[in-house]
Amino acid sequence: MPQASTDRADRADRTASSRDIGIDLGTANTLVYARGHGIVLDEPSVVAVRTGTTTALAVGTEAKETLGRTPGSITAIRPLRDGVICDFEAAEEMIRHFVRKAVPGRRPRTRMVVCVPSGVTQVERRAIVQASTRAGAKTVHLIEEPMAAAIGAGLPVSEARGSMVVDIGGGTSEVAVICLGGIVTSRSLRVGGDRMDAAITDHVRREHALLIGERTAEDVKIAVGSAWPVPGLPELESRTHTVRGREKVGGMPKTLELTALDVRAALDEPVAAIIAAVRATLEECPPELSGDVMERGITLTGGGALLPGLDLRIASATGIPVFVADAPLDCVVLGSGRCVEDMDTLGSLLAPAKP
Ligand code: ADP
Ligand code: MG
Repeated sequence: MPQASTDRADRADRTASSRDIGIDLGTANTLVYARGHGIVLDEPSVVAVRTGTTTALAVGTEAKETLGRTPGSITAIRPLRDGVICDFEAAEEMIRHFVRKAVPGRRPRTRMVVCVPSGVTQVERRAIVQASTRAGAKTVHLIEEPMAAAIGAGLPVSEARGSMVVDIGGGTSEVAVICLGGIVTSRSLRVGGDRMDAAITDHVRREHALLIGERTAEDVKIAVGSAWPVPGLPELESRTHTVRGREKVGGMPKTLELTALDVRAALDEPVAAIIAAVRATLEECPPELSGDVMERGITLTGGGALLPGLDLRIASATGIPVFVADAPLDCVVLGSGRCVEDMDTLGSLLAPAKP
């Protein structure tokens, strides 16, 4: 995973004996928090299966390695890719695998708090609860992702003041205003890191007649992507990144040097879509609460929050201060972790779910 630091990679080696866990079932990454231990697992939400079957050959980090370069006999699936479950069996296999890995041995009476994208349907919720139960959960609570993100970012969700959180994940972004422990208004859009990657792929194909893969596009985004000039990072404007692809005409391998400005232009459309969703959410928010947001600012979480200049661009478009949460990729799982650590106090934020 490109964004993995040593610290994040180390987590995979830690395991927990705790019975209570929080899971961030993200479209790009799944993280697990174990009560008393912290984050114990952090892997891509990918399952590799033998084509035409449901036999999982690899899950997580190992399976992501195969994305885009699988032989015909293996298919790499991202079960939650667009925020909806496109493959129930793969999703269940993934949840089971990650829970077993995070909490090895017997799992009697495990309580799980699972974060789900707020766009998932009742049927999908039931499927997630069922999969978690089969993976060993005694009780399963579902928590809406923006609520978990806000808790994990340290926002005062229970207070009588409005807080706005924008969680930019891989397949979806969630925008929500939270007050008194509830989501007052929210929207979920199918624009996130994946759409940014696709925008780069399209731009390179259109402007440079070069075909590149989605992993390459993500590398470009992380290496030289930005949404707006950043005063503290003047060198951002002059960065370049060399990509390898295949010529559209002729099909020969070719390398190309992309500039940061080229990539910023490519990212304009998905970034504009996120801004439009922020504005629309503000517009339908009760005036007192939007006043609170004006004053206290907007908090960005999720991997997309790491795109340089995104905060400044949203601030410029809305006139509201924007902050990037500490460790934005961890906010959702830390929020679910807070619920796990403190089931009694935060239990009211959770809806118990029946399989
Ligand atoms: P999800 O919750 O949907 O699993 P995450 O919050 O884990 O998503 O974020 C994953 C997304 O963040 C991916 O699309 C990834 O490319 C993107 N991302 C990670 N690091 C950066 C970065 N430094 N700049 C821009 N995007 C990033
Ligand atoms: Mg997420």
